[in-house]
Amino acid sequence: MLGRCLLKTFDFDRVVQNHYYARPMQDRVRVDSVAFACAASELRATVSTADLPRLHDALFDQSGEIAYGLAGAVDQDGIASLRLDIAADLVLTCQRCLGPVKFSLKSARNFILVPQTQALGDPAEEPDDVERIHVDAMLDVATLVEDETILCLPMVAAHQPGQCSPPVALEGASEKKSPFSSLATLKRQ
Ligand SMILES: [Zn+2]
Repeated sequence: MLGRCLLKTFDFDRVVQNHYYARPMQDRVRVDSVAFACAASELRATVSTADLPRLHDALFDQSGEIAYGLAGAVDQDGIASLRLDIAADLVLTCQRCLGPVKFSLKSARNFILVPQTQALGDPAEEPDDVERIHVDAMLDVATLVEDETILCLPMVAAHQPGQCSPPVALEGASEKKSPFSSLATLKRQ
């Protein structure tokens, strides 16, 4: 059920198609967020991780891609929103051995569209899967996907203990040699 879009900025009767025409601009998909929501448009595509530079520090290589779905909606209170689903199999850099470690991510979030004139409010007051973003006539979808992916990455990517290659000593007692052990070696000589 489509509600009436309170963010209406022009005559949406003219927007009849459900399949949104995404305009590529500088090779980036950009959508008019309000028009997209009010037309209940849907977009399914992939974006290469090579095109998302803020992920590169975490990635072991840039060969992967992120599949995403963007769906617009307006609820019965006239609140316009975009739902973003992302899924990817990435290869991250293990922070212990600097080797490749596989990481699968899957996430969904609703972005409530807020007029530019309004404050976004405190994110802590929203449920985890809801965020408020300002209305954007040229919303860069890849940046939204990039932001969402960053939120899904582990704080520290690493293999399971003992799975590093080559094996490295775990932090703790085995790594810190007691000053007495070198003394013992000295005495044996
Ligand atoms: Zn490792």
